[in-house]
Amino acid sequence: MAEQVISPDLGFVKDVIASGGESLKKCFQCATCSVVCNLAPDDKPFPRKEMIYAQWGLKDRLISNPDVWLCHQCSDCTAYCPRGAKPGEVLGAVRKLAIEHYSFPSFLGKAVGKPQFLVLLFAIPVVVLFIVLALLGNLNLTAIPRGEDGGIVYAKFMPEIYIEVIYIAVSAFVVFSFVMGIRRYWKDMSVDKKGQILAAGSILGTIASIIGEILAHKRFEKCELTKERKISHFLVFYSFIGLAITAAWGVFYLYVLHRESPYPLTDPMKWLGNAGALGLLIGITLVVIYRSRNKEKAGIGSYFDWLLIVVIAAIAVTGMAAQCLRLAEVAVLAYPVYFLHLVFVFFLFAYAPYSKMAHMVYRTVAMVFTKHAEKGVEIVTKAG
Ligand code: SF4
Ligand code: SF4
Repeated sequence: MAEQVISPDLGFVKDVIASGGESLKKCFQCATCSVVCNLAPDDKPFPRKEMIYAQWGLKDRLISNPDVWLCHQCSDCTAYCPRGAKPGEVLGAVRKLAIEHYSFPSFLGKAVGKPQFLVLLFAIPVVVLFIVLALLGNLNLTAIPRGEDGGIVYAKFMPEIYIEVIYIAVSAFVVFSFVMGIRRYWKDMSVDKKGQILAAGSILGTIASIIGEILAHKRFEKCELTKERKISHFLVFYSFIGLAITAAWGVFYLYVLHRESPYPLTDPMKWLGNAGALGLLIGITLVVIYRSRNKEKAGIGSYFDWLLIVVIAAIAVTGMAAQCLRLAEVAVLAYPVYFLHLVFVFFLFAYAPYSKMAHMVYRTVAMVFTKHAEKGVEIVTKAG
């Protein structure tokens, strides 16, 4: 039998424990978790093997392991684990460390995962937006120009062109960061796929089928303990899509039809925007309710999980409040709330490659890789 050299990374074990996997060492390898997991394939089950990799500090086998992302954190394994080792939470911690490992630039990956950097991370959008307002002379809220009817117009407080320049720059940075991270991740997965060649030919068919699966949220249906997560995730996911379409619609109104905001509530674009905001608020509220309801069996989640939940909730609340306060003409509250809304949106998008938001990209890539690899060719090797 060929010898295998194991290189444990004790720092990695500490990181998993610090990231929400504190119960890791309770695992005694009974494999109940792999049996109860409805998402694990029969021929390559998880998460038992990932638990022992994590206990031994085998960072290399975990960080680039696509199985870690095939887990949808449904927590069935955690509920049935006889030792209370919470494998679902341990995999969540490993995913957080994988995001951190592949993040570019890496210091942002480390900062977003640590509460001590939270104030600094929020300070960046606050300062950027504050400087823009100062340059526009809009720090005095009582002197901000009004619309022709005397009403509050947010575009006069923070003109669209400034928002677009800031958010287009942020988007370009985010895309670049994701491309850098995913390139390294894909390369590591390919290297680790010993004994198998990825399927030759186009990967487009695989991508299309995985996207179809994601849009339908099919994998959430296989969860048992937290089956209802399909509803909350579905609502949040499609609300974001609705809000993205609303933003594009607004750009079309402004630059193609030359119609300036604010638009009346009877406008179809406002219907979609308000439906998206309401869906986001309901969806994220359900996330909190379901997590609290299942906290004994499934665990309450880590700082990394809650940071994303709170930021999404804050975007929904401040967005709806900004509209209500504008319509109610409460200027002293409307402008600060709108400012906060812009800060939370900046936070969500600028830090997406480093926060739990990155799961949508890493999980999609892992699913595509796994499905594509399944079409590949097995090569029999003598190494056991
Ligand atoms: S995590 Fe729990 S269920 Fe899974 S192998 Fe370890 S002890 Fe068994
Ligand atoms: S959390 Fe759910 S999907 Fe993830 S390993 Fe456990 S049972 Fe499987």
